[in-house]
Amino acid sequence: MSERFFPDSMPPPLADATTLPWWEAASEHRLVVQRCTACEHTRHPPAPVCPQCRSAEADWKELSGLGEVYTYTTVHRPIAGEQELPFLIAVIALEDSGGLRMISNLVSVSPDDVSIGMPVELVWEDMSDDLAMPRFRPRRG
Ligand SMILES: [Zn+2]
Repeated sequence: MSERFFPDSMPPPLADATTLPWWEAASEHRLVVQRCTACEHTRHPPAPVCPQCRSAEADWKELSGLGEVYTYTTVHRPIAGEQELPFLIAVIALEDSGGLRMISNLVSVSPDDVSIGMPVELVWEDMSDDLAMPRFRPRRG
Protein backbone atom coordinates (compact mmCIF):
# COMPACT_ATOMS: atom_id res chain seq x y z
CA MET A 1 0.00 0.00 0.00
CA SER A 2 1.03 3.58 -0.65
CA GLU A 3 1.49 6.39 1.82
CA ARG A 4 -1.92 7.51 3.09
CA PHE A 5 -3.07 11.12 3.15
CA PHE A 6 -6.85 10.84 3.65
CA PRO A 7 -8.90 8.58 5.96
CA ASP A 8 -10.85 5.49 4.87
CA SER A 9 -14.04 7.38 5.69
CA MET A 10 -13.59 9.63 2.62
CA PRO A 11 -16.61 9.16 0.34
CA PRO A 12 -15.49 7.01 -2.63
CA PRO A 13 -15.93 8.22 -6.21
CA LEU A 14 -18.65 6.70 -8.38
CA ALA A 15 -17.57 5.09 -11.64
CA ASP A 16 -19.84 4.66 -14.65
CA ALA A 17 -19.36 3.11 -18.09
CA THR A 18 -17.57 6.25 -19.32
CA THR A 19 -15.24 6.71 -16.37
CA LEU A 20 -14.58 3.06 -15.43
CA PRO A 21 -11.53 2.72 -17.76
CA TRP A 22 -10.05 5.82 -16.10
CA TRP A 23 -10.48 4.32 -12.62
CA GLU A 24 -9.04 0.99 -13.80
CA ALA A 25 -5.94 2.78 -15.11
CA ALA A 26 -5.72 4.69 -11.82
CA SER A 27 -5.81 1.43 -9.88
CA GLU A 28 -2.68 0.47 -11.88
CA HIS A 29 -1.15 3.88 -11.00
CA ARG A 30 -1.44 5.18 -14.56
CA LEU A 31 -2.78 8.72 -15.06
CA VAL A 32 -4.58 8.80 -18.39
CA VAL A 33 -6.75 11.21 -20.33
CA GLN A 34 -9.14 10.51 -23.17
CA ARG A 35 -7.89 11.35 -26.66
CA CYS A 36 -10.23 11.59 -29.62
CA THR A 37 -9.03 9.21 -32.35
CA ALA A 38 -10.62 11.41 -35.04
CA CYS A 39 -9.07 14.81 -34.18
CA GLU A 40 -6.61 13.97 -31.31
CA HIS A 41 -8.27 16.48 -28.97
CA THR A 42 -7.69 15.40 -25.36
CA ARG A 43 -10.33 15.72 -22.68
CA HIS A 44 -10.76 15.23 -18.95
CA PRO A 45 -12.85 14.16 -17.14
CA PRO A 46 -13.86 11.31 -19.46
CA ALA A 47 -16.89 11.98 -21.64
CA PRO A 48 -18.68 9.89 -24.26
CA VAL A 49 -18.28 12.41 -27.12
CA CYS A 50 -15.44 14.69 -28.27
CA PRO A 51 -16.42 18.32 -27.55
CA GLN A 52 -14.29 19.41 -30.53
CA CYS A 53 -15.60 17.20 -33.37
CA ARG A 54 -18.45 15.13 -31.82
CA SER A 55 -16.72 11.81 -32.55
CA ALA A 56 -17.49 9.00 -30.11
CA GLU A 57 -14.18 7.22 -30.87
CA ALA A 58 -11.43 7.72 -28.30
CA ASP A 59 -8.42 6.03 -26.77
CA TRP A 60 -6.38 6.76 -23.64
CA LYS A 61 -3.15 8.71 -23.43
CA GLU A 62 -0.92 8.14 -20.43
CA LEU A 63 0.56 11.29 -18.86
CA SER A 64 3.82 11.80 -16.97
CA GLY A 65 2.07 13.00 -13.83
CA LEU A 66 3.97 16.29 -13.88
CA GLY A 67 2.18 19.59 -13.74
CA GLU A 68 1.86 22.85 -11.91
CA VAL A 69 -0.59 24.45 -9.52
CA TYR A 70 -3.12 26.45 -11.55
CA THR A 71 -5.06 27.45 -8.44
CA TYR A 72 -5.82 26.03 -5.01
CA THR A 73 -7.81 26.50 -1.84
CA THR A 74 -7.22 25.61 1.78
CA VAL A 75 -10.07 23.73 3.45
CA HIS A 76 -10.52 24.06 7.21
CA ARG A 77 -13.64 21.89 7.67
CA PRO A 78 -13.58 18.09 7.34
CA ILE A 79 -15.59 16.23 4.72
CA ALA A 80 -14.89 12.91 6.42
CA GLY A 81 -14.25 11.81 9.97
CA GLU A 82 -10.71 11.69 11.32
CA GLN A 83 -9.49 13.97 8.55
CA GLU A 84 -6.36 16.01 9.15
CA LEU A 85 -6.99 19.74 8.81
CA PRO A 86 -6.44 21.92 6.98
CA PHE A 87 -6.19 20.15 3.63
CA LEU A 88 -5.62 21.46 0.12
CA ILE A 89 -7.75 21.18 -3.00
CA ALA A 90 -6.02 22.27 -6.19
CA VAL A 91 -6.53 22.59 -9.91
CA ILE A 92 -3.45 21.07 -11.55
CA ALA A 93 -2.36 22.09 -15.06
CA LEU A 94 -1.11 18.78 -16.51
CA GLU A 95 2.03 18.68 -18.67
CA ASP A 96 1.81 17.09 -22.13
CA SER A 97 -1.96 16.82 -21.84
CA GLY A 98 -3.05 19.27 -24.53
CA GLY A 99 -3.77 21.96 -21.96
CA LEU A 100 -5.90 19.91 -19.56
CA ARG A 101 -6.38 20.60 -15.88
CA MET A 102 -7.67 18.30 -13.17
CA ILE A 103 -8.96 18.85 -9.67
CA SER A 104 -7.01 16.97 -7.02
CA ASN A 105 -5.38 17.44 -3.65
CA LEU A 106 -1.98 18.78 -2.72
CA VAL A 107 -0.23 16.62 -0.14
CA SER A 108 3.09 16.66 1.71
CA VAL A 109 3.10 20.47 1.75
CA SER A 110 1.95 23.16 4.15
CA PRO A 111 -0.64 25.63 2.83
CA ASP A 112 1.86 28.42 3.59
CA ASP A 113 4.33 26.89 1.14
CA VAL A 114 1.97 26.54 -1.84
CA SER A 115 2.03 29.03 -4.70
CA ILE A 116 0.39 29.43 -8.09
CA GLY A 117 2.64 27.93 -10.75
CA MET A 118 4.45 25.66 -8.29
CA PRO A 119 5.78 22.54 -10.07
CA VAL A 120 4.13 19.38 -8.74
CA GLU A 121 4.27 15.65 -9.36
CA LEU A 122 1.71 12.91 -9.09
CA VAL A 123 1.63 10.58 -6.10
CA TRP A 124 -0.90 7.76 -5.90
CA GLU A 125 -2.81 7.03 -2.74
CA ASP A 126 -4.19 3.50 -2.54
CA MET A 127 -7.52 3.78 -0.75
CA SER A 128 -8.20 0.03 -1.16
CA ASP A 129 -7.03 -2.88 -3.34
CA ASP A 130 -8.86 -1.52 -6.38
CA LEU A 131 -9.16 2.22 -5.73
CA ALA A 132 -6.22 4.59 -6.12
CA MET A 133 -6.58 8.36 -5.98
CA PRO A 134 -4.21 10.76 -7.71
CA ARG A 135 -2.74 13.43 -5.43
CA PHE A 136 0.01 15.93 -6.16
CA ARG A 137 3.00 17.04 -4.11
CA PRO A 138 5.79 19.56 -4.72
CA ARG A 139 8.14 18.23 -7.38
CA ARG A 140 11.25 16.58 -6.00
CA GLY A 141 14.53 16.70 -7.86
ZN1 LIG B 1 -12.48 14.93 -31.86
